[in-house]
Amino acid sequence: VKVKIVSVGTEILLGNIVNTNAAYLAKQCANLGLSCYEQITVGDNEERLQETIQQGLETADIIILTGGLGPTKDDITKEVAAKVMKYPLKLDEESKENIINYFNLIGKPITENNWKQAMLPEPSHILKNENGTAPGVIMEKNGKYVVLLPGPPEELSVMFEKQVIPFFKSISEEIIYSHMVKICGHGESKVDEEITDLLENQTNPTIAPYAKSGEVHLRVTSKAKNEEEAETLMQPMLLKLKERFGDSIYTMEEHITLEESIVTLIKKNKLSISTVESCTGGLLAARLINVSGVSSVYQLGHITYSEEAKIKAVGVKKETIDTFGVVSEEVAKEMAIGEAKFSNTKIAVSVTGLAGPNGGTKEKPVGLVYIACYICGNVYVKRFIFPGNRIKIRNNAVSSALVFLREKLLQYSK
Ligand code: ATP
Repeated sequence: VKVKIVSVGTEILLGNIVNTNAAYLAKQCANLGLSCYEQITVGDNEERLQETIQQGLETADIIILTGGLGPTKDDITKEVAAKVMKYPLKLDEESKENIINYFNLIGKPITENNWKQAMLPEPSHILKNENGTAPGVIMEKNGKYVVLLPGPPEELSVMFEKQVIPFFKSISEEIIYSHMVKICGHGESKVDEEITDLLENQTNPTIAPYAKSGEVHLRVTSKAKNEEEAETLMQPMLLKLKERFGDSIYTMEEHITLEESIVTLIKKNKLSISTVESCTGGLLAARLINVSGVSSVYQLGHITYSEEAKIKAVGVKKETIDTFGVVSEEVAKEMAIGEAKFSNTKIAVSVTGLAGPNGGTKEKPVGLVYIACYICGNVYVKRFIFPGNRIKIRNNAVSSALVFLREKLLQYSK
């Protein structure tokens, strides 16, 4: 099945917004086993949009368009697509109702042009918009599909995952089913080496690696008649990966993040956590706070950027800083111990490092980071040197702090 992705909007052409929707949709299509042959961006121009859709119908089986479903005059995607398909626009009562409910909820008056969004092609499959007013649409003619999705990424993704994927699954005879095996603490090349034989001999399921900061994800995908059959096909491969990577696999589910798996471990062990950060400036706390429900275990976080703050807030000794330097194993340890004491938590993680670009020396180069992890009376510390610029160093420090914390938590719970 061939797919063409069309991003609509002059803002994208001018570079005012980054086309994240196309990347998102391409990735989703790949996961579904649909081949994305072409991506194109068109401005808010009727003639060029019409031409693009017409060409798409000749070369692709599915055209996915995003953007231009809004209430204003320059939002023309639906009107043009319906014209190409030769389907008239009719008032859809349910969409009208949804628009009324949406405006009641946000307490704003409905303007006349909002009704434009309830005018939908007939026949079509209508996609409800949970986060906005513009409904999405799937039109079909002669076995070809035109899918219209809203521009705002959070509206698009919810609609795609909850409605478009099930729709395509319901019309295809074969389903694509996948697991995401998420590995932390190993570099991309190490993982690649471990699975060379699996990569070389893959058929069904297939396996594809993706590198992320501090993690490598392996998507294992199989094609089958139904989910059960797909799952059975995948099991031997998943087992092999478990044997090879063991505890480094923190999940096999797409939606679970590293921080989420850590919060689950903390909860399981009935522990509590706090953080104290220097060069990462709160990024570690933010990662943990990404997890909903973390409030039952996360107590408090400090950003102790200056030496004075490290001394005042978490009781690092001035002598320790004077003797070993602020970026040192000893200071990292005292930060973690002091934080646990201050917050009265069983776990405390500290980060102190040199994110650069200035201030590096031969002994203490830019990228040098110490991470300490205090767990129930024991404190562990690890030294890292991260390459790259300031943002890369800080992000890597956060990922490594999470991986280190997870490692210590697993040891604790054994
Ligand atoms: P609305 O009802 O909000 O007008 P729409 O479907 O008409 O939605 P657009 O007006 O094209 O969508 O875009 C609305 C906003 O969505 C843009 O300002 C931009 O922030 C975001 N957006 C649109 N297209 C993309 C894209 N391809 N990638 C990322 N963001 C996008």
